[in-house]
Amino acid sequence: MRKPIIAGNWKMFKTIAEADSFVQHLPVVEQEVDVVVCAPFTALFSLTEPLRAKNIALGAQNVHWESEGAFTGEVSPGMLAEIGVKYVIIGHSERRAYFNETDETVNRKVRSALDARLMPIVCVGENLSVREAGQTSTIVNGQITAALSELSAEQLNQIVIAYEPIWAIGTGQTATAEEANEVIKAIRGCIAEQFGSQWAEQVRIQYGGSVNPQNIQGFMSQSDIDGALVGGASLTPDSFIALVKGA
Ligand code: PGA
Repeated sequence: MRKPIIAGNWKMFKTIAEADSFVQHLPVVEQEVDVVVCAPFTALFSLTEPLRAKNIALGAQNVHWESEGAFTGEVSPGMLAEIGVKYVIIGHSERRAYFNETDETVNRKVRSALDARLMPIVCVGENLSVREAGQTSTIVNGQITAALSELSAEQLNQIVIAYEPIWAIGTGQTATAEEANEVIKAIRGCIAEQFGSQWAEQVRIQYGGSVNPQNIQGFMSQSDIDGALVGGASLTPDSFIALVKGA
């Protein structure tokens, strides 16, 4: 009942010309999977129509929580919505690590993105020392509780969660599909406690961290994993197409 969702996170890669050429190489995507490309701000507007023609949704990688104001260098949720952006990654571990994002700013961004009718892809995940200390679910569930604070249960339908262990991002190391599924089940349990299990069962939760065409099926075959958020392997059309097929 949960529709699979594959999202490419291009990070700070691709000029407008490179982005356009990438999309030209993609086939039209079938309806069974939601496919999203999260491009750099500069390439978003020019991708709106080409992606629409391929049945692929447009995503951004960050957003500010205010609707407008004196915030030099920032982009508001309404500005993204205006150009056809549908999804926005919020709280990626790189933003938490390098740009001081906290659980509180993640929550503010989630709420204002929802107000602008964007669908947040909310990222959570533990670092290696947390994992080694056996604290993964405690830390991740804390991030989830904070990120979803003050949301209504109905709003959960407009949210995607991405569980991304930090030590697996860009490293070629992944959690095993079973390990990832266990953490994601715990996330669902945490959401059930806050909102009720009927809502928790509907939330789509992706795994992210060194997902590629070879390992995606292992993740997708798990009971609670509904898709993937993919960095490196989303950058070439062949690999991205293979990921979508693998879903
Ligand atoms: P990766 O990145 O697939 O290159 O590990 C995932 C992410 O950062 O979302």
